[in-house]
Amino acid sequence: MAKKYRTATLADWDRTYLWHPFTQMQQWEQQEPLIIERGKGSYLIDTEGKKYLDGTSSIWVNLHGHRHPALDRALKNQLDKIAHSTFLGLSNPPAIQLARELIRIMPKGLKRVFYSDNGSTAVEVSLKMAIQYWQQRHPNLGPKNTFLHLKLAYHGDTIGAISVGSIELFHARFKSLLFPTLEADPPYCYRCPLNQTYPSCQMACLDPIERILKEQHRDLAGFIIEPLVQAAAGMITAPPGYLKRIRELCTKYNVLLIADEVATGFGRTGKMFACQHEGVTPDLMAISKGLTGGYMPLAATVTTDEIYQGFLGKYEDFKTFFHGHSYTGNPLGCAVALANLNVFKKEKTLAKLQPKIKTMTRLLQPLRQLSHVGNIRQRGLMAAIELVEDKGTKKPYPLEAQIGHRASIEARSRGLLLRPIGNILILMPPLSTSLSELTSMIKILQASIEATTLALASGQRP
Ligand SMILES: *Cc1c(COP(=O)(O)O)cnc(C)c1O
Repeated sequence: MAKKYRTATLADWDRTYLWHPFTQMQQWEQQEPLIIERGKGSYLIDTEGKKYLDGTSSIWVNLHGHRHPALDRALKNQLDKIAHSTFLGLSNPPAIQLARELIRIMPKGLKRVFYSDNGSTAVEVSLKMAIQYWQQRHPNLGPKNTFLHLKLAYHGDTIGAISVGSIELFHARFKSLLFPTLEADPPYCYRCPLNQTYPSCQMACLDPIERILKEQHRDLAGFIIEPLVQAAAGMITAPPGYLKRIRELCTKYNVLLIADEVATGFGRTGKMFACQHEGVTPDLMAISKGLTGGYMPLAATVTTDEIYQGFLGKYEDFKTFFHGHSYTGNPLGCAVALANLNVFKKEKTLAKLQPKIKTMTRLLQPLRQLSHVGNIRQRGLMAAIELVEDKGTKKPYPLEAQIGHRASIEARSRGLLLRPIGNILILMPPLSTSLSELTSMIKILQASIEATTLALASGQRP
């Protein structure tokens, strides 16, 4: 048993030895870190025994709540057999069974599962597969050595993933390392890049995409997209039919459609996968976050028979996909992922989700009236509240006001944990969240927005 240390000691050591992700450590070092020791259902519990609602699903990974008995059991049972053996040259039962189950629930036509460890690596794998596929299968169709993606896209933090990403604040510093790509405007209707209004625009933002595909398909191996929701951009939701049209265009111009369902997969949008809302089968799909129900780092890239066939040949043809990780197909991760899929069936998670989605919409409605709420976007159980300094002109708060951060500190003091993206508050509770927990979360959210925007306004005009 690990020795139990006092919170103050742990806090000291945290500030002395650690470097946290996406965190200005100078600011962090001056604060008391919140140290989570346990969890139960929709709650996280700190070292002092204080309970918080997990409003981010522990950053978009948890589905059925913390300490779910079936998931706990699956992990413990697997531990009684083996924690890990390599997937290079060997296989293991949970990884095999999980692949079969995944293919059952995937959009029709996806047939093969390639494991990795996190969302970024699942994306890297999909990019490399796409590039190698064209070289081996259709070298005559062009060099096909780059990708099209949307602006504000987020596909992870590794170099390949940020090459196809475009969140200026995260990526600008690394420009010299990135490979060149093609970019198109996203369907960000609240701040439409074309200054049009949906639906009268008739999705005019698709025209430039078609133009790029038409003119540059010989250079394009794939179009990578977060289907339906650009999550890290602040839950930018695509209008209905947008994804289907992208699929048609990719097919027409011989460009692979890569769906990054790392955030949207496993029920978040109301269906198992976002692509299934529009009957779309991508050529490659990256999954991770919800794959293990938020228990273990595991990811997969799933693809079609057509792509898979492109890698077959005699040993000495060297059409092998030369990629793999030390923990590929990790049995603990796969065992808990299998249990995760079982819970979906047993507890009818997707059916039970529908009333929660409607309730979320209804409860968020009154927040639209708040004087600094510019836009609320929701798809399934993913929601974003974009705060603005001036509602009329949509003028954003300056980043240094840290409005999102302040609002989430306020929410924390009221018992709700959030992680904002700049001026955008994100609410993405576990799928298992009860209606009363959902109500509490949104009540706290509203109170926190009101308190923070008021304090800021009075601070600015003393
Ligand atoms: C989180 C995320 C990733 C990166 O996943 P990691 O596990 O953090 O590497 C990739 N794509 C999308 C859409 C994501 O939301």
